[in-house]
Amino acid sequence: MRIAIGGFMHESNTFAPLPANRERFLEGSLTYGQAMVPIWREAHHEVGGFIEAAGKFGFELVPLGMAWATPSGPVTDEFFEHFCDALVTGVRIANPDGVLIALHGAMVTPKYPAADTEITRRLREAIGPDKPLAVTLDFHGNVCPAMADYANIIVGYQTYPHVDQRQRGVVAGELLARAVKKEIRPVSVAVSLPLFINLLGQDTARVPMTTLMESARAAEKRLGVLSVSIMAGFPYADVPDAGASVIVVADGNAQLAKAVADELAAAMWAVREQLNVLCPEPAEAVKQAIAATSTPVLLIDLGDNIGGGSAGDGTVLLAELLAQKAKGFVVVLHAPNAVVVAKRAGIGGVFEGDVGGAVDRLHGDPVAVRGTVRSLHDGKWIEGEARHGGRRLNDQGHTAVIDLGDGNALVLNSLRTPPFSLGQLTSLGIDPRAARVIVVKAAVAYKAAYAPIAGEIIPVDTPGLTAINPARFTYSRIKRPMYPIG
Ligand SMILES: [Zn+2]
Repeated sequence: MRIAIGGFMHESNTFAPLPANRERFLEGSLTYGQAMVPIWREAHHEVGGFIEAAGKFGFELVPLGMAWATPSGPVTDEFFEHFCDALVTGVRIANPDGVLIALHGAMVTPKYPAADTEITRRLREAIGPDKPLAVTLDFHGNVCPAMADYANIIVGYQTYPHVDQRQRGVVAGELLARAVKKEIRPVSVAVSLPLFINLLGQDTARVPMTTLMESARAAEKRLGVLSVSIMAGFPYADVPDAGASVIVVADGNAQLAKAVADELAAAMWAVREQLNVLCPEPAEAVKQAIAATSTPVLLIDLGDNIGGGSAGDGTVLLAELLAQKAKGFVVVLHAPNAVVVAKRAGIGGVFEGDVGGAVDRLHGDPVAVRGTVRSLHDGKWIEGEARHGGRRLNDQGHTAVIDLGDGNALVLNSLRTPPFSLGQLTSLGIDPRAARVIVVKAAVAYKAAYAPIAGEIIPVDTPGLTAINPARFTYSRIKRPMYPIG
């Protein structure tokens, strides 16, 4: 049994100005053929799960390639065509017994608003009508129901933060191997809802999402049901398929799959008001953080959620912390030009200049700061634990730590890096446990790394490309009416 494996993953924020071109994928992870295996084998990622499944369920791997980039604006049509060709050509040459492909589900290109479905369609065409094709998706996929016409098996992550990625990859691999052996005849059905769940409401450790997940796991135990995935969706994409959905894989019974998906979709719709979580604005949130007795306080910069595609150089909370004279804070900003200035000053030298607000003005203006260069780093570290995103080798590029006085540290890095690993700070000699306030540019994904050390967590309704409130955005292509914005 020979199974082709591969991946092409991007979460595209259609409101973000920076496109994902070949350079962005090279900064992320871009490998062709066999070279993908050593990179992803150990990762807590679905591709690692595919490789594990090969050993467990007895299939030979035909690695096609893997492309992954940090969320940003849409993928360019040029890179999309290039990497699709690499995958499709690989399948045509190898003529495998089945295909296992890791997609995100919220990839957009200028030409394809449902790019993941287009990839699936092309892979189906390449492999022919009869062989099984399995797709794994991120919990944030905006699922286009037509994907199920091309893929027999669709399996999404069921945790946010995403800590079950490897396990879901193994599930997809097992179902595919059983389908190749004709033990099962999997069919998938996807049902989408006109529902935006904001990222706080998507947290699978929070009710009612927890309850919905329990219902999904219970439904998976029903006779004839092979897999159930509740998909939270990605509200930062102005595309026709944006929103929450449910995917069910059943054994030869599309009617059963549809019935189970409809039932869970109705359960989701029934709790939509509880899924719509609200939180304080910056000034109030910083006031609460300074007054907190249990530290470190995490101020969650929801508007500048790097993992959701924003720039990572938003200054709203930094400016507010300085204005309210907070002490003992740590703020990380993506500021490649400021890193050059810091390197020129050297360790112990004076750093003076504007930081942040370079990409756009949606996340605040540049802030003038003065401090001392505490340390300089190459920005690389290894994460050994299961963290959201499943990355082991991390790289935030050349990085400078600036001492701002009052125990305040400003970290300036050269590559946009979401805060999914404490190594981002500890590798710089910063002990996050000793800080009073840490600004975290994320929504929920940071929790796997940061929640265990947090004294208190305050999500903040900051403005920006990933603002928590969808009413801050102007949509023109989504389904209407869309809860909660109408
Ligand atoms: Zn996600």
